[in-house]
Parts: sequence; C-alpha cells; structure tokens
Amino acid sequence: MKIAKIEVFQANLPYSGGVYRLSGGREYAGFDASFVCITTECGIEGWGESTPFGATYIAAHGAGVRAGITEIAPSLLGQDPRHLDRINETMDGALVGHNHAKTPIDVACWDIFGKSVDMPVCDLLGGRTINALPLISSIYAGDPQDMRTRVRAHREAGYMGHSIKIGSDPVLDAECIKACLADRQSGEYFIVDANGGMSAENALRLLSLLPNNLDFALEAPCSTWRECLSVKRSTSVPIIWDELAQTEEDIVSLIAQDGADGIGLKISKNGGLTRCRRQRDICIAAGYTMSVQDTTGSDIAFAAIVHMGQTVPKKFLRCVLECRDMISVKTADGDYVVENGFITAPKSPGLGIKPRMGVLGEAVLSYS
Ligand SMILES: [Mg+2]
Repeated sequence: MKIAKIEVFQANLPYSGGVYRLSGGREYAGFDASFVCITTECGIEGWGESTPFGATYIAAHGAGVRAGITEIAPSLLGQDPRHLDRINETMDGALVGHNHAKTPIDVACWDIFGKSVDMPVCDLLGGRTINALPLISSIYAGDPQDMRTRVRAHREAGYMGHSIKIGSDPVLDAECIKACLADRQSGEYFIVDANGGMSAENALRLLSLLPNNLDFALEAPCSTWRECLSVKRSTSVPIIWDELAQTEEDIVSLIAQDGADGIGLKISKNGGLTRCRRQRDICIAAGYTMSVQDTTGSDIAFAAIVHMGQTVPKKFLRCVLECRDMISVKTADGDYVVENGFITAPKSPGLGIKPRMGVLGEAVLSYS
C-alpha cells in the first residue's frame, strides 16, 4: 500500500461561546483549522485535523500547520501509510519539531490503517478498554458567579469533570475556584488550569488563600519548567502538566524530576497518535493520570481524542475533552454520541467519520 495523494483543507471554527478567555489577557473568538486527506493508490482515504488554540497558546498557529505540511508532504508520497513509525521518521527527517504539522498526517495514516484491516483505530492502538470515557468541560476565565453558572450548565448536560481556567490575580482566582466548587456533586472532579499564566509566587499565594478541603488538581500553574517544579515541591495539591509536556523526552524528564502527578495529553500538541501511544505507555509506567484532549478542534480532532482515550486504562484516564462543544461548526459525521457525559469510540473501521465536504470546501494544497 502506498500514499498517492495528500490534500490539505482549511476552515475557520468560530468559538461557540462568543469569546474564550485565558490567563494573561488572551482572547479567542475562533480557531484556524487544517485538515489532511491522504489517499492511497488503492483508493483508501484517511483524515486528520490540526487546530492550534490560536497563535498565543503554544508555539503553533494555523498558517504554520499548513506551511509545515508543505515541507513534509512531498517526502511521504509512495510510502506505506500503515508503517506509522517509519512515517514519523520520514516527517522528522523533513522537518524538525512542529508537532502540529505532523499530527493530521499521522492521524490520517491511522485512519487508513484501520480501514485497510476493517478495525477501529483504538483496537490498533492497543485495544479498547470496557470503559465509557468521562467528558470534561472547559470553563473559560471570568467573573466567579458567571463561571459558577457555566459549571452548573455543564453539570446539567451530564459533565462530571470541569476544567476551570484561572490565572489573572490570586485573590480573584481564589474566589473563582470557590464559586466553581461551591455546588460540587458527589463524583465530580475539578482541574484548576492556569495555562502557564501565574508566577510561582502567585500560585503559592492562591493556594494559601483556599480552604484545605477543596478537592481539585492544579494544572499548568506557570510558564516555565523551573517555576512549575518549584510549585510542585511546595504544595500537596496534585500538579498536572500540559503546555510544557510535549514530547517523550519532556515526560521522561518530568518523571525523573518527580515534577507531576498527571499530564494533559493533547493529540496535536504531543505529535499525533503514534507519539501519544508511546507517551501514554510512559505515563502508565510512571503512574500518571492522563486527560486526553487537543488544542481545540472539530469532529475529526475529537475522533482521534476518543480513540486514544478509549485505550487508556480506567485508573489512568482522568477524562477526555469534548472539544466539539467549543466550536459552532460541524466538519464530519460519525457515531460519536454522548450519553450522560460519557462517550465510547465507534466500532466502525478507522476513525469512523465521514467528513462534510460542503464545510471543508476545496483543497488549499495538494500533492500527488
Ligand atoms: Mg490545560
């Protein structure tokens, strides 16, 4: 089996809630999404998506995804898409880094692999667990009572997990956390996520302002490795790493330095399903919990999240991110039905999705 054609599509995905706010005054009204369709000589199509969270989240942006693909795509023509480690070696040989550009190609190859052997991607990644996957909400930063209201709305929609965005000021952040956790129900869990927006000093001030019995994990308090390690060593609150954990080497270093209790495994931040599979196994060996997510994205990105999440043993899976509810455009159809805040990967071959070509339009790049 050989790759015969690689096409790239682009779509703008408006944020469904108006304007999404993160620490440091970052605002997002929509997201620039890239989609890759790989076609084999025998006519099998595979799809992948890469949607960076704007240009101010990590070192990635929409135009950069497409520019990266122009460096990589020509060298992949004629390769066997099922040989995923070799595909990734070829991509690394054509372009250093740039996980976001490599991810949609990697995911499209997994989609092809699954279709070629009539198996869902999660079974190729190690086999599905019996668990339905708990979804986590994404509550952008704002006024304490407004955030509490948005948590309640997600609770009523079935969500048992909530990711609370903070990072503006320790006193206000403490009020937001207390408001969001005020109506906590049995079985609910909370991640307080600063997206790297706090200094170590402010993170410690925030923690000292909170009552001892609040049950949450603190994610990405600071923007640098040193600061996050310092916070981890100064608190008994569980610390989750996200933006700073992007490669296998990062995760191995984190374990060696006992710097985390879990990580946010984002498919495109972490380099695609092949790399996430390896990182998943390292995390399991280390006893880390994983939130399987992406840097936003639509139905195709969500499909990759769900297939990876479906392979993580229950003990280690904190949640998967329902990124689809953050955007107001549907890019593909598939059997991805949420039931009471849980989802299960479909049993159809590959990712089990059918792209909506009317939404994706004409290819903006094509290689054959
Ligand atoms: Mg995060």
